Amino acid sequence: MMIYTQQKKLNTVISDFKKAGKSIGFVPTMGALHNGHLSLMKKALEENDVVVVSIFVNPTQFNNPKDLEKYPRTLEADVEKIATISKDILVYSPEISDIYGTNVSSDFFDFHGLDRVMEGAFRPGHFDGVGTVVKKLFEIVTPTKAYFGQKDYQQLLIVKRMVEITQLPVEIIGCPIVRNADGLALSSRNQLLSEYMQRKATFIYKILQEVKELFITKNIIEINEYVTKAFTDDKDFELEYFTIAEADTLQTATAKEIGKRYRAFIAVYAEGVRLIDNMEL
Ligand code: AMP
Repeated sequence: MMIYTQQKKLNTVISDFKKAGKSIGFVPTMGALHNGHLSLMKKALEENDVVVVSIFVNPTQFNNPKDLEKYPRTLEADVEKIATISKDILVYSPEISDIYGTNVSSDFFDFHGLDRVMEGAFRPGHFDGVGTVVKKLFEIVTPTKAYFGQKDYQQLLIVKRMVEITQLPVEIIGCPIVRNADGLALSSRNQLLSEYMQRKATFIYKILQEVKELFITKNIIEINEYVTKAFTDDKDFELEYFTIAEADTLQTATAKEIGKRYRAFIAVYAEGVRLIDNMEL
């Protein structure tokens, strides 16, 4: 397994592959890998000649320094997990300076309002940080296709918009959410939860499933009230937002319109850990 910490070295190897006409699949991650990440890598392996995985906890997308500090970092275990699916995957695991030099800051993007709702509203600057690091990573890796999970659905649309703005020649592929047997969306943050809470947090999935059912017969205001009450009644959770939004623009919906697609989005604190999930309605 080849692990690169310097973009120059990685770039030389990738340039040779590209000269030989090989396609490059890319999976950007922040590490603490789980089966959700591995599903993206498997898809990338199916569709490309060469696969690159980056493991980099990007400081500019964290608006809360404590969150950045406690984000799990498990490089050795991550490399072992990647090796279980292919030893040919190239891993890029840089220091902050290899990506940012001495200027650890974000660029500003016009995300057409995609960044002003939900994650963007509650985590100021988050998506400029995401756009900045993904752009830098795309310039380093020069992928043919890059793979992102619908677990971070808003991020997926933000990355597509960033590619539209920058005109980088890469195709963005959205991949389904991977869940555990009880329905909890896999997340690197789950390992910060107690065993009790890991079981209990499946409540988030159950509520989303209920919302999907209710969406057929109830109006959005009623559904919002139902979800708010369900979380107010349970002291183990603190609901940050629940939103039904139009799937393409992510603008909050208050009434259903024929011909539009909708998704439910949720962010919840449990034991001080911030969990997000979403579901197509
Ligand atoms: P992260 O390491 O959390 O930044 O995630 C890296 C990539 O993995 C992002 O594109 C995520 O959307 C994706 N991802 C994270 N969790 C899941 C999951 N449970 N199912 C599918 N993709 C996921």
